[in-house]
Amino acid sequence: MKKNTLHIEHFIRRQLDLWTTVSPSNHLTKQLLVNGSVVTVQYNPAREWSAAARVDKVSVSKRPCFLCAVNRPQQQIDIIRGNYRLLVNPYPVLPQHLTIADSRHLPQAIAGRMGDMLNWAQALEGFLLFYNGPQSGASAPDHFHFQAVAAGHTPLERVMQTSKGVGEGLAGFSGRYYLFSDTRKKPVCEVFEHICQQLGSTSGDEPMMNIYCHCISGKWTLAVIPRRRHRPERYFAGDDSNMLISPGGLDMAGIIVAARKQDFDRITAQDVEQIYSEVAFQ
Ligand SMILES: [Zn+2]
Repeated sequence: MKKNTLHIEHFIRRQLDLWTTVSPSNHLTKQLLVNGSVVTVQYNPAREWSAAARVDKVSVSKRPCFLCAVNRPQQQIDIIRGNYRLLVNPYPVLPQHLTIADSRHLPQAIAGRMGDMLNWAQALEGFLLFYNGPQSGASAPDHFHFQAVAAGHTPLERVMQTSKGVGEGLAGFSGRYYLFSDTRKKPVCEVFEHICQQLGSTSGDEPMMNIYCHCISGKWTLAVIPRRRHRPERYFAGDDSNMLISPGGLDMAGIIVAARKQDFDRITAQDVEQIYSEVAFQ
């Protein structure tokens, strides 16, 4: 996979011509100061299906998988590279929002895929690549996928750009995170393995986390945000305090997606701090 061989912008334009999707530039946004960083809240009604998605094993097994080729809309085109298919996300949060799905219906699990993540980050220089763990924001926990968005839109990337080597257990605006960078793939994979071992897991599954990667001039930077839970208390509240905020990778990177207007209108910096404190480690 070589840099600049994917002609992504042309691919995205072609897809948008064939299939009218939601334009991310039309999203209503507001900014809040959260734990010393400016976080954006975005009103994006097209994300309601994702925020409301049931991601437990039984519910997932009963619905047709939207990442399997047989179930995808006819007008959705793809770029095939190795075992992966690159797709335009029909419900974008940020510009040039892509999904990179395995061609096979295999579960969302990062084991053995870090090398692929680094390769994709290199092939998609100018993008932020990210991975939502199966219980940390993935709407298709049964079908392996990465996502990518145009670089430079998330507060987390400003933190990533300051990475000089390995930083562990730092406190970020959304919670504790790990940050490391190297020009060689092997050390990045090794540090990542080490972090996974350190985080551990009681269930035997991989640790709950969101992973971010970008590659700039041959240097990879990886950020890992460990998660304690997927959805905050207020997601489940049966009263007026209920908020349909279901944090995935972009929310943890500082772009909070509110699918309902009432949640967008009333959410405060304190609410976002509360949500982060419940779903991440402080
Ligand atoms: Zn599938």
